[in-house]
Amino acid sequence: MAALAPSMPPTNHDETYMRAALDEARRAADAADVPVGAVVVADGAILGTGRNRREAAGDPTAHAEIEALRAAARAIGHWRVEATLYVTQEPCPMCAGALVNARVRRLVYGCPNPKAGAVATLYRIPTDARLNHRLEVVGGVLADECAALLTKFFEDLRRGGRAVECT
Ligand code: ZN
Repeated sequence: MAALAPSMPPTNHDETYMRAALDEARRAADAADVPVGAVVVADGAILGTGRNRREAAGDPTAHAEIEALRAAARAIGHWRVEATLYVTQEPCPMCAGALVNARVRRLVYGCPNPKAGAVATLYRIPTDARLNHRLEVVGGVLADECAALLTKFFEDLRRGGRAVECT
């Protein structure tokens, strides 16, 4: 009897896509922006990528998640982004709200955000039963790598004598 194809792929997809988000975060750091990156994935395809571009764009809303959601919505041709969003750091209130508004199905994030986290740390927007949409949430994927990127960025800034607010 022929072997059946495995029903589940053998790789850990969450880590694979978090690595893609980490690549975006590194690009943000290269442009002197706080290194946070995001990718939107549906049916095994990356629909949109984003990185924090607040400094580069001079735009207070240019967070990685917003950029990735906009790119995914453009690719889909609709505001509804029923997909998984991967982001290296726990989203802030603005981005957590955007995830709800976009009807994102699943959020996977890396490290916690002690100063602005709106998924588990300060607020719990994506799982708040009072809102009209809730997401499945997975935190802590490659958290150490995600946090190390932020720590190094702020250490380098301090060494350079510059100060930039955390996202
Ligand atoms: Zn944000």
